[in-house]
Amino acid sequence: MTSALSIPTDWVRVRAPGKVNLSLRAGPPGPDGYHPVVTVYQAVSLYEDIVATLDDGITVSVTLAGGQADTVPTDESNLAVRAARLLADHAGITDGAHLHIDKRVPVAGGMAGGSADAAGTLVALDELWGTGASRDDLLELAALLGADVPFALVGHTAVGTGRGDVLTPAMAVGEFHWVFAIAAEGLSTPEVFDTLDTLRAGDDVGPPDPEPDIDLMHALRTGDPHGLGAAVHNDLQGAAVHLRPALERTIATAHDAGALGVVVSGSGPTVAALGRNRAHAQVIAASLTLAGVAERVVTATAPVPGAQLIC
Ligand code: ATP
Repeated sequence: MTSALSIPTDWVRVRAPGKVNLSLRAGPPGPDGYHPVVTVYQAVSLYEDIVATLDDGITVSVTLAGGQADTVPTDESNLAVRAARLLADHAGITDGAHLHIDKRVPVAGGMAGGSADAAGTLVALDELWGTGASRDDLLELAALLGADVPFALVGHTAVGTGRGDVLTPAMAVGEFHWVFAIAAEGLSTPEVFDTLDTLRAGDDVGPPDPEPDIDLMHALRTGDPHGLGAAVHNDLQGAAVHLRPALERTIATAHDAGALGVVVSGSGPTVAALGRNRAHAQVIAASLTLAGVAERVVTATAPVPGAQLIC
């Protein structure tokens, strides 16, 4: 008997989350040029929707949320196309697909939108093409596509080591209420890391402590937004503010609005502010909007699951 779930379909929709780094500590670059990091990721309810439809070849189109410049490539360099090609090679698939991405995560905003697209594409095409890949196969392919891609598959809250791609799930209780102040123009992740190295020149900086911050992990385990707000940290924040001095005003505005913690997300320039609860997050969002310190201000809850099929 054929169950309703196995009826073949020629399209699927997957939802994949953006992330905020609650803590990010980076060491000096190794011989391969990569900076070792110890980071605590949290997946947030700011989503990319990816609709994959059976088609000839592999193509992509993108709809951007309001205010974003048209900076997403639609050629072979798009991370979703790279993910599709990698999965097709891995599984020996000759079918094609069209991918449509409805982007809400800011482009080059330090919230891993491209990584979410890649993770979402792996999940979508695994289903659409029926590749039979295991979860571990998908995680291995994800790590080949970028340091943040495995986390976009896994979601929730996790500690990332190595380049951020070696994940250990972290326990988090309850729901946290975030506000994101999104800039009109992104920052290049390599440029932010280069600036970090320049700013640190002459300092004696070792590899990051492999144990994530005790206070931060305790706040997550106990669902304590005050503790979490006090513990957020990002080694890249100084470099992001150096490259984009206007961020100082955004950060100060969020503090003035009573945010429990304010941190640049990943390589920036998105600024993440933590509210006491949903209503307080709305108040912070209104203050940031009124101050005119961001192109777009959104609220989101966390943690949420990783890339998943929604139909
Ligand atoms: P990360 O923090 O993971 O380094 P980010 O969130 O700052 O990344 P992304 O939006 O993921 O930045 O993308 C950075 C750059 O990658 C963009 O400027 C764009 O040129 C390129 N890119 C390739 N594919 C995509 C995609 N699907 N979505 C967004 N950008 C993409």
